[in-house]
Amino acid sequence: MEKLRIAIQKSGRLSEKSLALLKEAGISINNGSRKLLSVAQSFPLEVIYLRDDDIPQYVEDGVAHIGIVGENEFAEKACAVDLVERLGFSRCRLSIAIPKSESYGGIEDMDGKRIATSYPVILEKYLGEHGIKADLHVLSGSVEIAPSIGLADAIFDIVSSGSTLISNGLREVETVMHSEAVVIANRNLKELEQGLLTDLLFRIRSVMAASNNKYILLNAPNDRLKEIIDVIPGMKSPTVMPLADEGWSSVHSVLSEKEFWAVIDRLRELGAQGILVIPIEKMII
Ligand code: ATP
Ligand code: MG
Repeated sequence: MEKLRIAIQKSGRLSEKSLALLKEAGISINNGSRKLLSVAQSFPLEVIYLRDDDIPQYVEDGVAHIGIVGENEFAEKACAVDLVERLGFSRCRLSIAIPKSESYGGIEDMDGKRIATSYPVILEKYLGEHGIKADLHVLSGSVEIAPSIGLADAIFDIVSSGSTLISNGLREVETVMHSEAVVIANRNLKELEQGLLTDLLFRIRSVMAASNNKYILLNAPNDRLKEIIDVIPGMKSPTVMPLADEGWSSVHSVLSEKEFWAVIDRLRELGAQGILVIPIEKMII
């Protein structure tokens, strides 16, 4: 039977989370021995493990039908593949940083400077858009030490907490792009592969929706019920059931993580009691 082939990072920052996502989507992969290729149970899926740099090209060529990579690799490799889903993990940004003793007046300051980076394509495009010409030094790693050894005046690299920059005496001066893990897909999938991808994306979206939402139960005084319901609209509308205690109702609904604390505070002001918040395992939307 035909299978969908997915490329994921062999070992690195994306590997574990990519496999965990598939697992939550009900697809377990037996990869005890860290093979190059493994076959999933319970879904027609084959996994190939690659360096993240190689994933966009493999997907463009159709060796893998889809892949999970950082948006930064997707942008840098500029391969002819489609970005079909953002996954929300491995978030980072790509920024220009300079020695902290240097002043910075704006991107014009980079004109004629030497910038060390592993992402020349993204940087070149950004500088071009701002009419800046710089001298790029392409390094595959340890970019952050380039200024201190006199190799460059600035760097362009991945930043997440910023602690690597600080420990190398650098400061972030320009954020060029934000990145998160994404699913990319080959542009010429056959109907069957496209169907499998649609099924897989449906599962992945259900997992993500669940982790972005909570199930909430609370007791509401009937005289404030309408206002309380306005605060928690729910998927369709909340479930309301009378309590044995006269004058009170039990309200059940779904709340998104983003608005969570603001809504909880508002509910307490409105006299809601016994608020319970429960994780949702899957959410079919
Ligand atoms: P490979 O050996 O596969 O080429 P790599 O060294 O290029 O691996 P990793 O360091 O494992 O890559 O990072 C993989 C991806 O994770 C990056 O492309 C980026 O999207 C994301 N990432 C990198 N650093 C961080 C970070 N500090 N925090 C969050 N995400 C990050
Ligand atoms: Mg890499």
